[in-house]
Amino acid sequence: MTRTISILGATGSIGASTLDLIRRNRDQWKVVALTANSNAAELSALAREFSAEIAVVADESHLASLRDALVGSGIATAGGPAALTEAASRPADITIAAIVGCAGLAPTMAAIEQGRTVGLANKEALVSAGDVMMQAVARYGTTLLPVDSEHNAIFQCLAGNDPANVRMITLTASGGPFRDWTAEQLAAATPAQAVKHPNWDMGAKISVDSATMMNKGLELIEAWHLFPVGLDKLRIVVHPQSIVHSMVEYRDCSTLAQLGPSDMRVPIASVLAWPTRMDTPCAPLDLAAIGELTFRAPDELRFPATRIARAAAEAGGAMPAVLNAGNEVAVAAFLAGKLSFTRIALEVEALMARFAPPAPTSLEDVIAVDAEARALAVQMLEPA
Ligand code: NAD
Ligand code: MG
Repeated sequence: MTRTISILGATGSIGASTLDLIRRNRDQWKVVALTANSNAAELSALAREFSAEIAVVADESHLASLRDALVGSGIATAGGPAALTEAASRPADITIAAIVGCAGLAPTMAAIEQGRTVGLANKEALVSAGDVMMQAVARYGTTLLPVDSEHNAIFQCLAGNDPANVRMITLTASGGPFRDWTAEQLAAATPAQAVKHPNWDMGAKISVDSATMMNKGLELIEAWHLFPVGLDKLRIVVHPQSIVHSMVEYRDCSTLAQLGPSDMRVPIASVLAWPTRMDTPCAPLDLAAIGELTFRAPDELRFPATRIARAAAEAGGAMPAVLNAGNEVAVAAFLAGKLSFTRIALEVEALMARFAPPAPTSLEDVIAVDAEARALAVQMLEPA
């Protein structure tokens, strides 16, 4: 049986891992839409390889080169944010939402509104839209499957259990490349050092988020929406080996954990094949070779991001969207060499103290909060 699939953010790290699995099972999949921000050369090559119905660049200034590259292919092309959302609303059995940042929110919502299956990697969209997204999932009867490795692990550990029996959900964190750095070393951390993650090969933005631990803060909010057991039942533990991807403890003190190699093709495969299983090319775990799995409490003095994210969740309403927007701006400034590493989380906290808009009730509200928060964050970063 063939299934149809769209991949939003096809040229990224998650997009590439997804397409790698599709490539190995070509007869089972028909590709509908592939999208990218601006890389027309890579997008057109993927669209040709996978015989996509349509290829879309979000940045319209790259549409002409996308068109040129796909002349004679029979593949439709489009550009700009509206075209991206239109492509995401084309019928597909499953859509992988793998755009980075709140830029992926509108297309992800369009995919959700199809009422089919969405594999969610784009955590910033859920953090920002929160209830607005989860209400759409309920209203359209959509199956939302988490791609993020921790949430995919939790989803697997919850299978067949009554959430009322959950005592605690534990998100594991690698701790990132600066896990053991002193405060002085952190202050001097460079973008090149931050994007070099010890265990995972990922896009630049999430790599910086892993280094600041804001990734785990965003994931805490993501988990709070996906698994509504309450914030007080969500905790974070540092696990440097990235083998245990998360855990669920039940009322009887029985803990279920999901283990696997640090390769995103494992959770992506579980989403693509759900509710059954498929092969992956990943090397199976060799626990004897790994030898030790260690765990420790996070240090919120050196890495305040998880504390700040929890505060945003506790404040609720628009605050997680403000947190996310501030973080996107601060991470971009850090990557551009305009902000020191340790200022990233502090800028986010300062923005949250200055901007507390009312709770959004629609997609348009969320987009407006995101835009306003970004503008203020940019202004706060300008030299006085
Ligand atoms: P990436 O930077 O490698 O790829 C991002 C993709 O989004 C690219 O296809 C890019 O062209 C597209 N894109 C970027 N800006 C855009 C815009 N303004 N409009 C439309 N498209 C745009 O990122 P990634 O590492 O693949 O991460 C994607 C998402 O998945 C992020 O939300 C990240 O947090 C999440 N995630 C990634 C990993 C991982 O291992 N890479 C793991 C868990 C979750
Ligand atoms: Mg993760």
